[in-house]
Amino acid sequence: LSLHKNALELTRELVRMDTMNPPGAEEEAVSHLGRLLENAGFRTTYSEYAPGRTSLVARLSGAPTGKPAICFAGHIDTVPLGARAWTRDPFAADINNGKMYGRGTTDMKGGVAAYVTAAIELARKPRGKADIVLVIAAGEETGCTGSAHLAQRKILGSAGAMVIAEPTSNYPIMGHKGALWLEVETVGITAHGSMPELGVNAIYKAARAISKIEKLEFEVAAHPQLGRSTVNVGTVTGGLNLNSVPDQAQFTVDARTVPEHDHPRILTGLQTYLGEDVTVKRIVDLQGVWTEMSEPFIELVCRLITPMIGEIPTPRGAPYFTDASVLKPAYGEPPTVILGPGDMRMAHQTDEYCETREIETAAAVYYDLARIWGE
Ligand SMILES: [Zn+2]
Repeated sequence: LSLHKNALELTRELVRMDTMNPPGAEEEAVSHLGRLLENAGFRTTYSEYAPGRTSLVARLSGAPTGKPAICFAGHIDTVPLGARAWTRDPFAADINNGKMYGRGTTDMKGGVAAYVTAAIELARKPRGKADIVLVIAAGEETGCTGSAHLAQRKILGSAGAMVIAEPTSNYPIMGHKGALWLEVETVGITAHGSMPELGVNAIYKAARAISKIEKLEFEVAAHPQLGRSTVNVGTVTGGLNLNSVPDQAQFTVDARTVPEHDHPRILTGLQTYLGEDVTVKRIVDLQGVWTEMSEPFIELVCRLITPMIGEIPTPRGAPYFTDASVLKPAYGEPPTVILGPGDMRMAHQTDEYCETREIETAAAVYYDLARIWGE
């Protein structure tokens, strides 16, 4: 009972701390969690990738048996409130009819509170055979910046299994596509609009490149659950004014890729395909992830969650990407499940809420999972 109550109370505390990204300002919430974990016996390492943009890795040592650690990970930043007015206070975390309202209740302060509470509860018990590692990342919503920084600074330590607590209504999700976001630039020579023959039109070059991307079909096989790799041109900008030949244009490309689709190969392939007239630059590079359900860790997750969700899970992927794109390779590809409280359709919505029951269920499952992993 105290596990449940504490998970809800901690979610409320986190929702009341504004971590909307931009600007982010995760430090207050992360320090709060760090203090709670330190008091429970965790060793903490903070990492700031920019002022106030703090991430945290906390580790509780198990008995020295060599059994690899179990890691729980998530992000503490949220998206902004959006243009539409909320009918509820987004920072009050009011509970009404079993729903807690507020920005980040679903995505994903409920999930973070659930695993922090479960880990603190476990720290009160005799030591298990495995370390418990918690990752609380800043700056996920704008491209997993916080976790990338943790990986780069090599302060994640090691882990042999991972749970990403993003909202899945506590249904275990086996992976998701990757995202490769690119900016493509073309240059020309400007001239007066009345004498275009004296210039080179950068927008025409961009238009030709965009037409080629529209016809592009990736040659990688479709993933049984995630489908095909796709590509979309999202924005175009260029030109100085109406009556000049533009000497510069750029557009952005959003490629969503199946896990086996190698991003460096896409990048060089695209540069060759579009020709020397364009420059392709990487903005965000997150590889897709997938774990087979036959992994013993996943079998354990499914066994624990089946009575709680009332069905035997089948392989499913998520439409969004998560910190797993960064953390899974950084930890050496451990089996990874995405499982957390909240309906994923609620993420980023006006009047975002999370069913309190789901936060309680998640805390209970995380607790059992870490306890059994450490046996
Ligand atoms: Zn999220």
